[in-house]
Amino acid sequence: MDTYMDIQIWGEDGEIAASQIGDMLRQLEKDWSATQGNSVIGRLNRGEDVELTAQQQELLQKAKAMAERTGGAFDPQLRSVSLAWGFLNKAYEIPDAKTIEKALWEKQWDMGAAIKGYAGQQSVSVLDTMRVDRALLNLGGNVQTYGSKADGTPWSIGIQNPRGADYVGVVSVEGTASIVTSGDYQRYFEQDGIRYHHIMDPKTGYPADSGLSSVTVICRDGMTADALSTALFVMGLEEGTAFWRESSDFEAVFILSDGQIYATEGAGLSGCEFEVIRREN
Ligand code: ADP
Ligand code: MG
Repeated sequence: MDTYMDIQIWGEDGEIAASQIGDMLRQLEKDWSATQGNSVIGRLNRGEDVELTAQQQELLQKAKAMAERTGGAFDPQLRSVSLAWGFLNKAYEIPDAKTIEKALWEKQWDMGAAIKGYAGQQSVSVLDTMRVDRALLNLGGNVQTYGSKADGTPWSIGIQNPRGADYVGVVSVEGTASIVTSGDYQRYFEQDGIRYHHIMDPKTGYPADSGLSSVTVICRDGMTADALSTALFVMGLEEGTAFWRESSDFEAVFILSDGQIYATEGAGLSGCEFEVIRREN
């Protein structure tokens, strides 16, 4: 998945749980990695008949459901678009309009915006079968908490400053949850003073230009958290706020390009100044 992962587990079965989670992560990487080859996703993209396991079918179905739920802002079939911009092989370039149009039309699977969140929830499934008190997983910037801290206080998860190495604030999270951030600073290149980042607007095939520099989603379900962080980034603050008001399964923190911070009322954000987004206007 082209990133670093860090796993901390407390409890009698900690070692064995970590090793099983490691195996699970390697299998997900093998099946769904963007490098294709003979992977499940590679074969799907070549139009081959692939016999999917029940879990793999569920993953694909859920990706489709999230695309529908977000009105297409989360689109798990943008691989050709990301490739055209060089985000998959770090050969960055601005494609011409024709190339983008063709890439949008090709509809190749890419689970990059949801697979780490899915890995988080799969980790929870592993931990549920073990003698484990609590765990804290950092799966390439996707944080997965499990259980409660020994002293009973909530988990504190830092929200990264999109334009610095520090944190802008902290969200407090009780129990098991996924805390996922999508931002314009994780993967990007600059040309003529303009930043081109890796989160695409499926409507245009260009990097989403929604006035945000990051969105953090807090949700009990890992894959939902991941897909929504990407989708809300594409939607922007206004549309994202309306989407949150229609939903009841997540909270969010929006950081605007100018540094202003907005957080939904249940996000548990502290340590910075921000506007609260309430259910009712
Ligand atoms: P990251 O993977 O860096 O943590 P995201 O979860 O936001 O961040 O996923 C971004 C990745 O998802 C991109 O690198 C690309 O592979 C893919 N992608 C880009 N735009 C979209 C989109 N609108 N919907 C779904 N996937 C996308
Ligand atoms: Mg995501």
